[in-house]
Amino acid sequence: MVTIPMWYKDETEFKSLNGYDVDGTWYPRVTKILEIKSKPALERFFKEMESYAAADEVKNKSAAEGSLMHETIQSMLTGESKPIPAQVEPGVIAFQKFNEQKKIEFHPEFVERRIWSPRHRYAGTLDALAWVDGKFGVLDIKTSTGFYPEYNLQTAAYVTALQEFEVKRALSLPRDIETRWILRIDQHRVCARCNATLREKGGRAKIRSANGRAAAPNMCPDERHEWGQQEGDVELKEFPLVYKDMKAFVAAKILWEWEYDYWLRKIGYTK
Ligand SMILES: [Zn+2]
Repeated sequence: MVTIPMWYKDETEFKSLNGYDVDGTWYPRVTKILEIKSKPALERFFKEMESYAAADEVKNKSAAEGSLMHETIQSMLTGESKPIPAQVEPGVIAFQKFNEQKKIEFHPEFVERRIWSPRHRYAGTLDALAWVDGKFGVLDIKTSTGFYPEYNLQTAAYVTALQEFEVKRALSLPRDIETRWILRIDQHRVCARCNATLREKGGRAKIRSANGRAAAPNMCPDERHEWGQQEGDVELKEFPLVYKDMKAFVAAKILWEWEYDYWLRKIGYTK
């Protein structure tokens, strides 16, 4: 049987697009590994759009908007008070308010930090380590409309890596990691007439009724909504149990390694 490997120019390109170098050892990236898993919500979105190009454009624009929110929050956490871009201001302000109330303490040395697992062989970039309600854990920031299962696999990989002795020592971790959270930051507008919400992602409007449905009898027709100001919304969810998610992550990694066997052998990762 002839298998056709995924196309890369050379080993250097494969390595730089798929992994990180940590002290001279190359490790595949957690987010790259997770690309092997199908994403039904994303597939549904692509099917709903009139063309692949249109869907791809919305997806990329939405990713850029998410990055801007991410970067702004991260610069705040590291104390770099950069100006807040107007597009993300409602979300950032909601985040600040949420923080004051919840008293999340971010560890400034562990914002956007490289982590790796020598044992399972992968690497990634943490958003933050934080104390919430007396617990210390991994905190990942998302700007999506909902919580997607992939997030759990990603953060389980981070938690597990940080529990390895060698990594704890190399990073001088101040305390053992006990848990993980997803902090979701998003923006929406509310209709003054029917209380529906409007979320704009990558230039595409997503309208939901007051109880979260795509269509409801009490909703105004599309052109009758009266949208208010952008409001930020922030949600924090804890996912304390890592074991099952880690098992799934390891399985995804095995599949990923199978898919990229040609290149992984070429670069000496697989012997
Ligand atoms: Zn309305």
